[in-house]
Amino acid sequence: MARNVLILPGDGIGPEIMVEAEKVLNHVNEKFSLDIATTRALVGGIAIDETGHPLPEETLEKARNADAILLGAVGGPKWDKLDMALRPEKGLLGIRSQLGLFGNLRPAILYPQLADASTLKPEVVAGLDIVIVRELTGGIYFGQPRGIRETESGEREGFNTYRYTESEIRRIATVAFDLAMKRDKRICSVDKANVLEVTVLWREIMEDVAKDYPEVELTHMYVDNAAMQLVRAPKQFDVIVTGNMFGDILSDAAAMLTGSIGMLPSASLDVNGRGMYEPCHGSAPDIAGQGKANPLATILSTAMMLRYTFDEQAAADAIEKAVFSVLDQGLRTGDIHSEGCTLVNTSDMGEAVLAAMKA
Ligand code: NAD
Repeated sequence: MARNVLILPGDGIGPEIMVEAEKVLNHVNEKFSLDIATTRALVGGIAIDETGHPLPEETLEKARNADAILLGAVGGPKWDKLDMALRPEKGLLGIRSQLGLFGNLRPAILYPQLADASTLKPEVVAGLDIVIVRELTGGIYFGQPRGIRETESGEREGFNTYRYTESEIRRIATVAFDLAMKRDKRICSVDKANVLEVTVLWREIMEDVAKDYPEVELTHMYVDNAAMQLVRAPKQFDVIVTGNMFGDILSDAAAMLTGSIGMLPSASLDVNGRGMYEPCHGSAPDIAGQGKANPLATILSTAMMLRYTFDEQAAADAIEKAVFSVLDQGLRTGDIHSEGCTLVNTSDMGEAVLAAMKA
């Protein structure tokens, strides 16, 4: 039976970068006989415009039937004033929670060709290769009760609830330990166990899961220190595992270590390895429609999809090697451009990756 991939281009630069990723996917599909069939659907702002909802029922149904989802990006100023429940971002949160995509993998790799693009000194970041494993469907972003209420004194008060069950912690720990086994076998679990009871439990469960992985070295770090260490000496890490909010913040910091958010893919997985794959960046409305967007994060997300959901390592390797090759050729979109390199547009970059794969 064909493997079913749902394509969700979304808003802003989403459709432009997706065209390039699809070129690459179509090529490997044929070359490696992957038997992948694609369908498309609406999500985010465009879905609001056409159906009145950021996650139409038809899209959710297609997402449920897909083995993997490839997403561009959603959002933009046009929809910023809408009610919170109808914002484009709700489309993504909806897919993540409805499909139980609890495990977010965000690699931060600094390609040696781009060492100068980082704001940190090359010797601090050159060769960086870490993965942040972020819990995605629990924690304070989803905890109930939440809201803005009036206190007895008549003052308004905003409140959210930070909670994690033991099983939620255990399953994200398992994702992180399994990943560490395929890498350098080192995990740093990031928490705030000196202040938050939720993360006292988090730390306890991490220690418990570690007993099943005697080869993996587990360390713990408070989130404030982790933020500092990420910019001071990021290469000390291999796999970082953390909760939803801390992961949100730390993974963006890690993204910048690599110079451009336009280079970073991500995966969000369920317990069976089905997943949604997307670039770490947003819809970049400031450059949408101008051919300036870097499609490499979406192309690399396609490689992650082949690696993690379909276990097609050779096809994934071929894509990643082609990306390495175009960087070696000195081709750069604006976000990673530096002196002496060739500035190319979105579609030229996609074509160059394709050509490198065919070479
Ligand atoms: P952003 O990531 O869209 O853009 C931040 C900066 O990075 C901009 O200057 C942009 O031009 C640049 N950039 C981003 N991707 C790029 C690429 N591929 N190539 C070259 N440059 C790139 O973040 P933002 O400006 O904070 O958000 C814009 C919109 O995207 C908002 O509506 C936000 O809610 C949404 N958003 C969506 C997602 C998602 O779909 N997963 C994630 C983050 C933000």
